[in-house]
Amino acid sequence: MKNEPKILHIDMDAFFASVEQAYNPRLKGKPLIVGGRADKQRTVVCAASYEAKALGIDSGMSTQQALRICPNAEFVSADSAKYLYVSDQIAEMLKNYSPQIEQASIDEFYLDITGLDKMFGSYFDLGMRIKQEIKKKFSITGSVGISVNRLMSKIASKLKKPDGMMIMPRADIISVLKDLPIQKIPGIGASLSAKLQDLSIFSFSDMRKFSADFYQQRFGKIGLWMYALAHPEIVVADEEIDWVDQKPKDPKSIGHSYTLNQNIYTRGEIEAWMQLLAEMVGFRLRRHNLEANTVHIYLRKPDMKSISGEKNFKEYNNDSKQIFKRALFLLDKLNTKNVEVRALGISVKNFMPATNNFLLADAQKRYQICNAQDAINKRFGDWTVYPASICSIV
Ligand SMILES: [Mg+2]
Repeated sequence: MKNEPKILHIDMDAFFASVEQAYNPRLKGKPLIVGGRADKQRTVVCAASYEAKALGIDSGMSTQQALRICPNAEFVSADSAKYLYVSDQIAEMLKNYSPQIEQASIDEFYLDITGLDKMFGSYFDLGMRIKQEIKKKFSITGSVGISVNRLMSKIASKLKKPDGMMIMPRADIISVLKDLPIQKIPGIGASLSAKLQDLSIFSFSDMRKFSADFYQQRFGKIGLWMYALAHPEIVVADEEIDWVDQKPKDPKSIGHSYTLNQNIYTRGEIEAWMQLLAEMVGFRLRRHNLEANTVHIYLRKPDMKSISGEKNFKEYNNDSKQIFKRALFLLDKLNTKNVEVRALGISVKNFMPATNNFLLADAQKRYQICNAQDAINKRFGDWTVYPASICSIV
């Protein structure tokens, strides 16, 4: 099919760890742990380099446990400003390839590249050029998937991780994915996959055995989505699965979340992640020149059930430290004792344009610090100035 839509998904490989290795070449090729705090005895692994992953180290694990596996592993504490800076640079670079770009997470982007094959020779050439430019400019690698919609391109890039590329035309989808376990399909989480397995649906091919009615009766709207994804031959446009595939184009909230590879348990671990997420949310708010007064947090448990809290605060602001404080206030209201956490997130909403009109001298000062830091990072293309990351929580 000549004119079918083409979506390119690119996902950086072991992003936090790769950025640290790019920044400090001494760490290249070594098992590297990016931890939540400066004190490596009391933190969790935020990210691990591929060299560390090969040894069985993964995010969510306590650093102590990781160091038992590999006592010589290198350790650096997570530095969200650095990762956000690189992420923004990558976004800017990708805009040169297609103006139709959507950032799905800190290290994942979708580009509508329909028709751009003529300009670049082929879709393969376009994908390779993007990968090469990222490698050259940022010394990190990314995996690329190209297919007919976002979901299929994301599956394709995942299948070729790390540093790979897969082009999956509509006509190939069914044969390429036939043995794909349902757990590998983005959007099918643990609880949905358990329900599907009860119906003896284990793979993509199994998903194709049932009718739309069957899915709708058992699962409602999400059932229809599953039917559609299993029948790429009848799904014409990306829009048809938009409602579950991705967030709307004009977001009403700004948020960051993180799914851990290993569950975390302690309040200290949860706080360490919350601080990292609050920094990211604050940075985005400031970049959009917005303030928000509503903060929402959630903790997702391994059974996919979530506990969450939300509050409208009186003051609007875009200060990461305040967002973190508010997140902690909400966290205090939740019963987190003995809660196992699989994923967590912070979002803010109820925007207004940043007024920069502070009643409190302290708030004014913090605002200036935040902005100066953002400006320096932007202007000099350097990350010399950033907060002491998430080192402060004991
Ligand atoms: Mg990634």
